[in-house]
Amino acid sequence: MSETMWAARLQQTGQPLVIEKIPVPKPGPGELLVRLEASGICHTDLHVAHGANFPKGAPQPLTLGHEGIGKVVDKGPGTTTAIGTRIGAPWLHDTCGHCRSCLTGRESYCPSQLAHGYTAHGTYAEYVIVKESFAAPIPGRFVAQRAAPLLCAGITAFGGVEKADLSPGKVVVILGCGGLGQYGLQLARLAGARVIAIDVNADKLDQARLMGAEACIPADDQAADKVRALGGADAVLNFAPTARIWPLVTDMVNNFATIVSVAMVEEPVPLVLEWLTYNGVNITGTSVGTRQQMLDFLELADRHDLGIDIETVRLADINHALARLSRGEVRGRLVIDFAAA
Ligand SMILES: [Zn+2]
Ligand SMILES: [Zn+2]
Repeated sequence: MSETMWAARLQQTGQPLVIEKIPVPKPGPGELLVRLEASGICHTDLHVAHGANFPKGAPQPLTLGHEGIGKVVDKGPGTTTAIGTRIGAPWLHDTCGHCRSCLTGRESYCPSQLAHGYTAHGTYAEYVIVKESFAAPIPGRFVAQRAAPLLCAGITAFGGVEKADLSPGKVVVILGCGGLGQYGLQLARLAGARVIAIDVNADKLDQARLMGAEACIPADDQAADKVRALGGADAVLNFAPTARIWPLVTDMVNNFATIVSVAMVEEPVPLVLEWLTYNGVNITGTSVGTRQQMLDFLELADRHDLGIDIETVRLADINHALARLSRGEVRGRLVIDFAAA
């Protein structure tokens, strides 16, 4: 095995990632060393790279990325996973195991969590260290490049759909039809809901139509009227990373609707409490998923062949890929293919 590896690392926020050769890390107790086949490129990575500061407690420089799939090539003391086993490196690297979130089945909200590409080194590198207890089992038949986005985009959409309280016949609006929205759309249909897709991008709406959205509506001034004409929204899953969608959301929901905030929107939105008083709307958020949700979701993804539009890129082209993502030019998900020259 090679002693060194290529990694794309954040040296300074607001600056392009630096692609450099660094030593391959050694797995410690309970850890696995994974040689990556593929890593998805998530909007959160942009968020970290463009942030004002490094995440608190993060190693500096930091290897980004948290949608990795690869094979175990080395293991630390106390591990039982066989060399050659295929695993996924998701967002969660480790949690404390004893806080209220951890003890109540909500470990993805653990305030002391370590996350790949955020507070632990991530998957924009040829190798990554994964805690054995947090490794996601990846069936051998999964194609790594196609399956990598399941580990963040997919599980995040799954968690959002679980919170949306869908049932057959309910109307759900998928706001933002990129990678996460595409998973959300497929999962909402599996729940029996009627799906309305909204996006600013006509290509993404075409894709949503192919995936079974009942109506595809451009995100403009008339969008809320069109949703109301179709019965109004019983649930809204927001995958659009902008505060501009908020007036649209409040205009389209029915009484007792559930609004799930999935995309990370930093800017505040106006919320009229009287509006909440009158309509009983439930507003909540979701953040990736627990290990049990990951098991459930991967099984579902396998059975229903859940997939989104992907486009593979080389690690060497990561900055170009991130720039395209920030301009909204990506239909589904960009995925680093480590086998590509
Ligand atoms: Zn992510
Ligand atoms: Zn915890």
